[in-house]
Amino acid sequence: MKTVEIIVPCYNEEECVELFYSKIVEIFKKFLPQYAYKLFFVDDGSVDHTLAKIKMLAEAADDKRISYLSFSRNFGKESAIYVGLQQSTGELVVVMDADLQHPPELLPEMIRAIEEEGYDSCAARRTNRKGEPIVKSFFSKAFYYAINRVTALGLVPGSTDFRMMTRQMVNAILSLSERERFTKGIYAWVGFRTKWVPYENVSRIAGKSKWSLLGLFNYACSGIVAFSTTPLRMVIWMGVFIVLGAFCYAMYTAISVWRHPELSTGRATVVLLLLFLGGAIITILGVIGEYLARIYMEVKRRPIYIVKETNIKMEDNPREF
Ligand code: UDP
Ligand code: MG
Repeated sequence: MKTVEIIVPCYNEEECVELFYSKIVEIFKKFLPQYAYKLFFVDDGSVDHTLAKIKMLAEAADDKRISYLSFSRNFGKESAIYVGLQQSTGELVVVMDADLQHPPELLPEMIRAIEEEGYDSCAARRTNRKGEPIVKSFFSKAFYYAINRVTALGLVPGSTDFRMMTRQMVNAILSLSERERFTKGIYAWVGFRTKWVPYENVSRIAGKSKWSLLGLFNYACSGIVAFSTTPLRMVIWMGVFIVLGAFCYAMYTAISVWRHPELSTGRATVVLLLLFLGGAIITILGVIGEYLARIYMEVKRRPIYIVKETNIKMEDNPREF
């Protein structure tokens, strides 16, 4: 019997974990009786009772079906996904949100795509964003447009982190050792054949989203910086453009002074030029700084997460935390 390993990042999901678990049990019983399943809850430093709820489930299930691991603080969903993949051992691994926004009803189709249709991974794609603020959808569109212009990743708009993968693909993802992980980009970067299953957006079953607009904006910027050096090249072009502009302006001034020596060239021009150049230089430094910061954070080689508590035993799974 094949086992499906389900990785569930949880941050303040006390209201969701039990509902999530019962839904998974139901789906496997009804549609996938020929498959065994294991759940791996990663508590991403929740400050509510998420961990207690997970422990209760793990004790009640008592057949090693549920494992959990709790971080010492909130390291972010990307770190939670990483540890999940790192601790997984099976042939079929799937990452799902705890809030049931990733419909477990899609699991049979995902398994079929990999087992029967020969795909390496199967991911879910939202076809609409019903129930989401318009600003959020607008920025999301802008993000996909921008990242696909400056990288060759070819990210699919509406793609989610809900994805089932083969062991081979999981190992490829783990071979990317960067600290700041932009999972969407990593999935695309490693390649392999992916089937996309569309689904209608569903609202959260309980609790609220952890993403603020500013948080999403920062996430989008890190994604672009992580996978593209185009902004650095754009900076060079900007410099060239400014120099050319300055040259043209110098020619124009020389000609007008030659033709009308009595006219003063003007203080305003100097002030405007100074402001323009100052602004341009600061922007350029900002872009370079963004990459420098990345290098700085990466060379420190800090761990991607720190474990506080877990029920995984080293003899069961001798992978280091
Ligand atoms: N999550 C996490 N760490 C965080 C933020 C979120 O592990 O710092 C988890 C969260 O518990 C949920 C999933 O990531 O299972 C998606 O988060 P959320 O539902 O808040 O995002 P949205 O669906 O609104 O994009
Ligand atoms: Mg959600």
